Amino acid sequence: MKCLGCLKEVAHEGYCKKCQRELFGGAKVQPHLSFPSPHSLDPSHYQQQTTRISISGVQVKYSLKLEADKLILSDSNGQFILKPTPFGVFQNLSEAPANEHLTMQLARQVYKLPIPPNALVRFLDGSLGYIVRRFDVQENGTKLLQEDFAQISQRSEQLHGKNYKYDFSYEEIGELIKHIIPTYQVELEKYFKLILFNYLFSNGDAHIKNFSVMHKNEIGYVLTPFYDLLCTRIHLPHESDMALMLFKNNRFSSTYENYGFYTYRDFEEFADILGIRPKRFQKIVESMLSNEKAIIAMVNASFLNQDIKELYIQSYFDKKKRMVMY
Ligand SMILES: [Zn+2]
Repeated sequence: MKCLGCLKEVAHEGYCKKCQRELFGGAKVQPHLSFPSPHSLDPSHYQQQTTRISISGVQVKYSLKLEADKLILSDSNGQFILKPTPFGVFQNLSEAPANEHLTMQLARQVYKLPIPPNALVRFLDGSLGYIVRRFDVQENGTKLLQEDFAQISQRSEQLHGKNYKYDFSYEEIGELIKHIIPTYQVELEKYFKLILFNYLFSNGDAHIKNFSVMHKNEIGYVLTPFYDLLCTRIHLPHESDMALMLFKNNRFSSTYENYGFYTYRDFEEFADILGIRPKRFQKIVESMLSNEKAIIAMVNASFLNQDIKELYIQSYFDKKKRMVMY
């Protein structure tokens, strides 16, 4: 049996001690929710007891809170976001909760990126849901001021059209980070790692609303922990490799023009633009490409089905190959 948090071996289905501590402050929470998934025939549970907090594409999200050692749906004071299987016509959608959980755990455990505690839960009907601790809610219940890069760049559907979340570049987000974050050097390196991570793991939906900053009293703005990471290729096989262009002004590098996709050279230039020194860039890429064993082990430990595990690993190797091309 694998822990539904960290995917390490446990005796019974549930969460290991460490995950119980990180997720629930030590409460002995069971992974079984007392209500069915919103795909079940009786949706009354959701209509009566919670409001939908947001919809991004086909993904519905609900709010959960911990009461004693039970996770319950809540309208207010939510501590967790719950994402069931999305509704819609994309492929393998029932694998989406396990996909997001695996991708977030890889980012957290293997790549050491700033990732909030997250796990899987089981609905009453046995299907899996993904939960993540809200990082904007502090221990004392107060909320941190959080802004995403649509707000920061003042882009909206009214002003920039339906495609406003995608009509931007990672270079421009980098420029904004430099403008508004006092400790931008540290944050730009994290940001660079995230963009490369998204490329390696085929997260093709990292649009401007999937990057945020929060305000901390002592230091001003910092990047929030990362969220919404998943291998979108499993659900949309023909989606473009990245949600945004790497470079601004619709520019592609000459190597991109040659190959038709981003390679080592593009990320080298991107790092340079962000102000990451060449030596540092080499070190980051080297370390990010040297995790093969740990990645395969974690994919195999995940709750994806066997076919999707193979697709996930194949997809990683496809991208990794590109990162040794010049
Ligand atoms: Zn665990």
